[in-house]
Amino acid sequence: MKLILLGAPGAGKGTVAKMLTALDGSVQISTGDILRGAVKEGTELGKQAEAFMKAGDLVPDDLIMGIMEERLQQDDCASGFLLDGFPRTIPQAQALQALLEKIGVKLDAAVNLDVPREVILDRLTTRRTCSNSDCQEIYNVKSKPTQVEGVCDKCDSPVIQRDDETEEAISKRLDTYNEKTAPLASFYRDAGLILDVNATSSDAVVDAIKTQIGM
Ligand code: AMP
Repeated sequence: MKLILLGAPGAGKGTVAKMLTALDGSVQISTGDILRGAVKEGTELGKQAEAFMKAGDLVPDDLIMGIMEERLQQDDCASGFLLDGFPRTIPQAQALQALLEKIGVKLDAAVNLDVPREVILDRLTTRRTCSNSDCQEIYNVKSKPTQVEGVCDKCDSPVIQRDDETEEAISKRLDTYNEKTAPLASFYRDAGLILDVNATSSDAVVDAIKTQIGM
């Protein structure tokens, strides 16, 4: 399947993407994960992105498009992809449309995950992430704790609270989402691709997507 997952930070895009990859071998592509990996490794991209990310601001569109033009043309995307956290602005959506036309790829849907703000705030302040950039498994101190406190179940690396998941940065990220990313729902509605999912349960979201794309 070839899907865009739209939704505020904490709406469950990453969790849903991971569940969907297990269905048909589509790859999850998270620009946030790619950027965090680059920051950790200290690459040029990481150095350029770090300050924006810490402040809860968006990284400039040209940096993101540089990453995605390369990523979407890699061989593993042939079996499908789930775009998690991209596009985030109208210019990114327009550039993506042009890129997909150029490489002859058609999207199945843009899934709009709608979750109430209080649920999102609670989820993000209790979220913890594996610090290993190759793992980045997500935990939650309330609903999905690690077996050993502070240690990733999968790779034994320390599990941390992200710099951009302090209350101040979260509030900024939600404002940025409302201003810059929420308008993408109309963009994809006009393109006839939107699938609105009003759900706080990841299983219900996955079921709605399967029905929509006839799985
Ligand atoms: P995420 O894990 O998707 O919430 O992304 C974490 C941070 O990475 C965001 O707050 C932005 O600073 C940056 N980021 C991720 N994806 C994008 C994107 N498509 N456009 C601009 N900035 C992004």
